[in-house]
Amino acid sequence: MPEAGRSWDEVREQLITRGGGDAKWRDGKTAVYVFNAGPEIAKVQQEAYSLYMSENGLGPLAFPSLAQMEREVIEMALSLLNGPVGATGAMTSGGTDSITMAIKAARDYARAARALSGPANIVLPRSAHPAFDKAAHLMDIEVRRLPLKEDGSYQADPAAMGDACDNQTIMMVGSAPNFPHGIIDPIEELGKVAREKEVWLHTDACVGGYFAPFARMNGVPVPPFDFEVQAVHSISADLHKYGYAAKGASTVLFRSQELFQHMPFENREWSGAPMTTPTLAGTRPGGAISAAWTVMNVLGVEGYRKTQGLVCETRERAEEGLKARGFEILGNPILGLIAFRHPEHDSFAIYGEMLRKGWFTSVTTEPRSLHLMLSPKHAEVIDEYLEDLTESVATVAEGKGGPKVEARYN
Ligand SMILES: *Cc1c(COP(=O)(O)O)cnc(C)c1O
Repeated sequence: MPEAGRSWDEVREQLITRGGGDAKWRDGKTAVYVFNAGPEIAKVQQEAYSLYMSENGLGPLAFPSLAQMEREVIEMALSLLNGPVGATGAMTSGGTDSITMAIKAARDYARAARALSGPANIVLPRSAHPAFDKAAHLMDIEVRRLPLKEDGSYQADPAAMGDACDNQTIMMVGSAPNFPHGIIDPIEELGKVAREKEVWLHTDACVGGYFAPFARMNGVPVPPFDFEVQAVHSISADLHKYGYAAKGASTVLFRSQELFQHMPFENREWSGAPMTTPTLAGTRPGGAISAAWTVMNVLGVEGYRKTQGLVCETRERAEEGLKARGFEILGNPILGLIAFRHPEHDSFAIYGEMLRKGWFTSVTTEPRSLHLMLSPKHAEVIDEYLEDLTESVATVAEGKGGPKVEARYN
């Protein structure tokens, strides 16, 4: 810490300079971490965030404005995801928070409704997000991850997952879509199994919850994945992904108040005033709530249909270009994420060449493949990406590739 504070002008300059070495997301050269809907939405996020930056969602009585915005965000979410009458939920800081709280609610529900005692477990497909493992670790819950179907669909295997359930199972999970392959699990089939086993089914729609409904409106054949499937008890859906909200915003939704009531945590046993918090956080940044509410209102259904339509179109262009270059697409992705591999050349070697050309994307390990999570901005750069891919494949094929880069998420 400097002894005497420095001028804002000087520090600001330094802030901007430091970003110089970061991934060039504004140019569309990242396809992971950032959802770029263009400078207009970025400005809306920024201004809406600033207006409530100091307010705290922990205090709904002090800030009824935020409480109302959160309620309206949840209402919009439930209207998109077929929430039945009585469905409810809360805003959280992100997908990990939403997933953690859904598991906590499921566990406490099992304890209350069927007197669960002893060690609990959750049953997941191999492709489910590591947030489930983290939450399970925190709560001392066993994780049972099952292999995907072996039919090349890269989907969860409902029968295998059903067989893995027992009396101590508090939740089964399907993704819509999963992150590694961008594929929607067969939620209806999972629902049948969950009903038979009388297990809580959670749909992890963190990356698809604010995408799939609009894709469906645009005519994409999105299978049932939300509360339309009766066995789905809870859903996680991130606003800070394809909701194009500022970071720090997700939603966790429950079919009924009866399920939801197991999520909030109340404490009276301390020296301070009694405190109830709905989610993992104490202090809740008002800006994350106001920015999400604002972007949803500014885009509206029409705006989201347009942006998500553009993303789907870009994915189709990518698929065409990839197939023309000899790549194989994993499964049948229909939203904004896609994984692909070359039949002859190592995906991670190609990934390294692309990284050296300034493309910062992700990879999938099972099987080794390249990965794109597309934003509206990519419509402008997908051709350039494909041209660079042609060069990178040639470089690898000639054995002239640069030093191997370790492919990892972070
Ligand atoms: C991003 C993501 C998560 C975790 O969300 P965070 O906001 O990064 O905590 C969980 N599941 C899926 C499918 C995701 O894509």
